[in-house]
Formats: sequence, C-alpha cells, structure tokens
Amino acid sequence: MKGDTTTYDVIVLGGGPAGLTAGIYASRARLSTLLVEKAYPGGQLMMCESIENYPGFSETSSGYDLSNAMRMQAEKFGMKTMMAEIDRMDLSGDIKVLHAASGEEIKAKTVILSLGARPRKLGVPGEAEFLGKGVSYCAVCDGAFFKGKKLAVIGGGDTAVEDSVFLTRYASEVSIIHRRDKFRAQRIIQERALSHPVINVHWNSIVKGIGGTDMVDHMVLENVLTRETIKVPVDGVFILIGLDPNTKMIRGQIELDEQGYIITDENMRTNIPGVFAAGDVRKKLLRQIVTACADGAIAATAAEKYIESKEFSNG
Ligand code: NAP
Repeated sequence: MKGDTTTYDVIVLGGGPAGLTAGIYASRARLSTLLVEKAYPGGQLMMCESIENYPGFSETSSGYDLSNAMRMQAEKFGMKTMMAEIDRMDLSGDIKVLHAASGEEIKAKTVILSLGARPRKLGVPGEAEFLGKGVSYCAVCDGAFFKGKKLAVIGGGDTAVEDSVFLTRYASEVSIIHRRDKFRAQRIIQERALSHPVINVHWNSIVKGIGGTDMVDHMVLENVLTRETIKVPVDGVFILIGLDPNTKMIRGQIELDEQGYIITDENMRTNIPGVFAAGDVRKKLLRQIVTACADGAIAATAAEKYIESKEFSNG
C-alpha cells in the first residue's frame, strides 16, 4: 500500500461486520474498495464465542469464523485491505483524504465510517492497575485463564448476562454485579443465567474498587440502597457495562448525538456528502450483527448512487 496514489471509489474505515459487508457490496458493485483497519478485521465479532441470533446460524459458528468468511467473500470480489491507524481525515471536499499515523495519505470519493465501539470503563480504583492481571473487558478472550476460579461480571445487559453463562465453562463461581434490581438483557439470556447453579447476582450493587497484590484478589461492593459496603474475594473481574462509540477522531466534523454516536438518515448518509456510517458507531435502536450487516449493505449502495450522481475528475 505504500506509495498508493489511487483515488478509491470507496474507503471503508473499520473492519467489523458493518465494514466487511460494505466491502462485499461495494466491491461486488465493481467499485474500487479499500478496507482500512488498525487490527485484524472482525471487530467485536471476534469476541463472540458462538452466534445464535444471526439468521441461518445456530450456535455452530464462532465470530472468528463468520468474520473471516465475510472478509474472504469481500476479497473475492476485489476489496483490498490495509492495516493502518488513521489519525486524521479531511472529509469536506469531493475527494476525501485519510491520513495514517505512518504518514501515508489515502484518497477516496466516498468514505464509509464503520468505526464500531469499544468497551466502556468503570472508572474505579484498581481497574486500570489490574488490567490483564484479573481485570478484563472480554470474556471470550480471557475466560480460559480462570479455570476453577471465582469471577465477577459487572453489568446487566446482553453481554454481561450472556457472558456470565459462558464463563461458567471455566469458573467455579460467577457473581453478576448489577446496579439495579432488574437486568436489561433479553429475557432468554436472563433465564439461562438466573437458572444456572453456579451464577449468583448482587442486585443494586456497584463496584467501589478492585484490589489485590500482583493479581486481583478482591473487590469492594456498595449496596446503593443501604450504602453498606462489603469486601468480596474474587480472582477475576469482567467489566461488561456497554460500549462507547469510536468517534473521538471525527468529533467536530460529523454530526453526533449526545452520546457520541453518528447521526445518519435511513440511507446511512451523514451530514457530509459522500460520507456514510454503518454499524455500532451509528445512532440506532438495535446493535446486532444482522443490523450492522444491513447498515453496511445500505451504505455501500448509497455510496454507489452518490458516485453515479456526481461528476468526478480522474484522480
Ligand atoms: P448495554 O446493553 O448498554 O448494557 C450495559 C449494562 O451495563 C446495563 O445493564 C447498564 O446498567 C450497565 N452499566 C452501564 N454503565 C455502568 C456503570 N458505569 N456502572 C455499572 N453498570 C453500568 O451493553 P451490552 O450488554 O454490552 O450490549 C451492547 C449491545 O450489543 C446491545 O445493543 C446488545 O443488545 C448487543 N448484544 C447483543 C447480544 C445478543 O443478542 N446475543 C449479545 C451481546 C450484546 P443499566 O441497565 O442500569 O443501564
């Protein structure tokens, strides 16, 4: 990619399911398409141990397998992939310019922002200090390190409740710590956790701190109703309290909602002509693989229509 002077039809920034699907649709439409991703493509999908609510799949496929299949499908149609960290973008002109941290510049007529989201931090003492020493944001990545151990899972959404069941494969005991008296997770996911013999729940509780010596050995919980604090022995703490969109770099350029998600219309168009957004980074009701893929397909098609509607000089 070094010295690449191509002006691509489409640059897809971010290689999760939204970006990979945009890549499939754009390259199959014979648009010159470059997917730029700072790590191995797959995004959060790589953290899914099994997939049971993507139509046509029932627990038999891992996130890793599904994202690899999507990437190969896009590359079969001609999509190129570049591993780079983009730290600045000029998006307002007819030709969009992306600046990589390495100093390279890449140009395109359209950009699809499929930047995804990253795990939210709890912000308590010990969280940063014990990262990788008992504190984790990914059950699938780190669960196997905790065979026979006592684990805590923080959160009450789909990820926390679903992953608490996954962690019982390894852990001797899993405690879910939730700040309210009700989970927000889907009913079917809740039922599995609440009926599991080694899962217990600390309702109305928040983590005040995580402690240990070399490795985590306890956390301090506060009951938000009684203000009582307790020290609970644990070997690992999985913080699964939701996501924050990866939009810091585009703040001020692209219209965002109050939580930092990109605002688009139904055709994935942002406030800047030729710039589209897809997947978890977008303001929307439902963040799932299937909705990310749908966004990616629409964004690529809208990018194709935009290119057709404009007169571009050869770049
Ligand atoms: P989420 O739905 O935003 O849930 C976050 C959970 O963490 C909530 O229970 C929230 O509590 C709690 N929380 C947030 N900030 C907190 C803080 N500072 N301290 C303590 N608790 C805090 O996030 P998610 O579970 O990661 O899911 C993200 C998206 O992926 C969702 O759209 C979800 O549906 C989707 N997802 C789907 C599946 C599936 O379909 N199988 C699996 C995983 C994820 P409150 O409830 O009190 O707000």
